[in-house]
Amino acid sequence: MPETMNVITIDGPSGVGKSTISRKIAQALGYTYLDTGAMYRAVGLYLVENELDLSDDLAVQGALENIRIELLPSPGENEETRVLLNGVDVSAAIRTPEMAMIASRVSALPLIRARLTALQQDIGAEGCVVAEGRDTGTVVFPSARHKFFLDARPEERARRRVLQLRARGEAVDEQQILQMTLERDKNDRERVIAPLRQAEDALAIDTTNRDIDEVAALVLESVRKGSPGRER
Ligand code: C5P
Repeated sequence: MPETMNVITIDGPSGVGKSTISRKIAQALGYTYLDTGAMYRAVGLYLVENELDLSDDLAVQGALENIRIELLPSPGENEETRVLLNGVDVSAAIRTPEMAMIASRVSALPLIRARLTALQQDIGAEGCVVAEGRDTGTVVFPSARHKFFLDARPEERARRRVLQLRARGEAVDEQQILQMTLERDKNDRERVIAPLRQAEDALAIDTTNRDIDEVAALVLESVRKGSPGRER
């Protein structure tokens, strides 16, 4: 088991503000931000681009052997991690609603989870990491010292996604994004391996009526106090 005393995990469904908050916490503490969702999206993009059959284990295994994912720190506080897939910058290509749905499908595959979990643990072993995703507190870093689980009402989460996508210049339909958000959450919560759920020792924070700075302050306060998990 890798050393995880200085790993902070932030899990929760989509649109709860995990990425922005994780980046803020990493910056405040001088930690590395680990966007595990970006890895699932990059693998999804590779499988789609190469028209591979997801039910064919040999094809998936072969693909994993050919995939090299590099995560580069975001250039600014408000920018997401840059992702290189076999040396090509796919940061924009992986962050579409369609790629989110594909990532959700491929993330249920045992071979893919095993490979990405191992890669994430290697990064965590280097220390001082804020890991963000669905299973970072339950499966990837079960002995992390500080664990958080963020949640918010689905309508609010979909609203935030819409604002995020529109800010990137994408024309999106709010109802459609809400449907996709609900479907992705259902897939993530109901899959057999590493489903989305709150770790028993995670601090749960409802972000529905809180802004980013308020949630980041709660997380930082809890990290500094070293408080155990409880509801906020
Ligand atoms: O966080 P993000 O929206 O980028 O994640 C995309 C998808 O990747 C999620 O819907 C989920 O299916 C999958 N994922 C996962 N485990 C993680 C992170 C992401 O299964 N730790």
